[in-house]
Amino acid sequence: MNIVLLGAPGAGKGTQAQKLVEEFGFDHISTGDLLREAVKAGSELGRAAKKYMEAGELVPDSLVIDLVTERLRKNVRGAGFILDGFPRNTSQAVMLDSELAAAEIALDAALLVSVDAEVIVERLSLRRVCKACGYTGSAAQASCPKCGAEMYQRDDDTPATVRDRLQVYAEKTAPLIDYYQGKNMLVEVDGDRPQDAVYADVKALLHL
Ligand code: AMP
Repeated sequence: MNIVLLGAPGAGKGTQAQKLVEEFGFDHISTGDLLREAVKAGSELGRAAKKYMEAGELVPDSLVIDLVTERLRKNVRGAGFILDGFPRNTSQAVMLDSELAAAEIALDAALLVSVDAEVIVERLSLRRVCKACGYTGSAAQASCPKCGAEMYQRDDDTPATVRDRLQVYAEKTAPLIDYYQGKNMLVEVDGDRPQDAVYADVKALLHL
């Protein structure tokens, strides 16, 4: 099964993806993670992407599309993939369709995790991520409950950048809801509930 995850930053896409990976072995392809790795490694791509990420803006398509195409080609897991944070605008969605069509791969669903904007701002200001394993938790956790490593706050989880990211989401990414609805692929889950309740619905919606 191949899935696209949609939803505002902080809606819980990454958390639901982690659960699906643990239970079903999907290949989790997060463009945000790939870009953060490139920034950390100081590669040419990372240096070019950094300023956009810090400002909460989208990194130009020309940089992201090669990255995701290359990563999709490395996807060898039979269980399928979860695209998290891609596509982020209509031109990326069109590019994804043509790339998948050329490879004779079908998308099965676009899963929208919905959460109100006010909830998002609070969630993101409290979000902390494990430096070692990428586990996403909250400021209440001094160390990672999974591996014990240090948790940190992402540079773009500050209130001012969060507001910019939400605006970018509303303008550029939210139109993809109609795009996938038009293809009869959209399923929606209420993400403003405990993670396990959301996950139970995700599995039911995806017939897993
Ligand atoms: P995320 O971890 O998905 O919230 O992404 C963090 C940041 O990486 C975003 O605010 C963008 O600057 C950048 N980014 C991630 N995915 C994309 C994408 N598909 N297109 C453009 N920029 C992206």
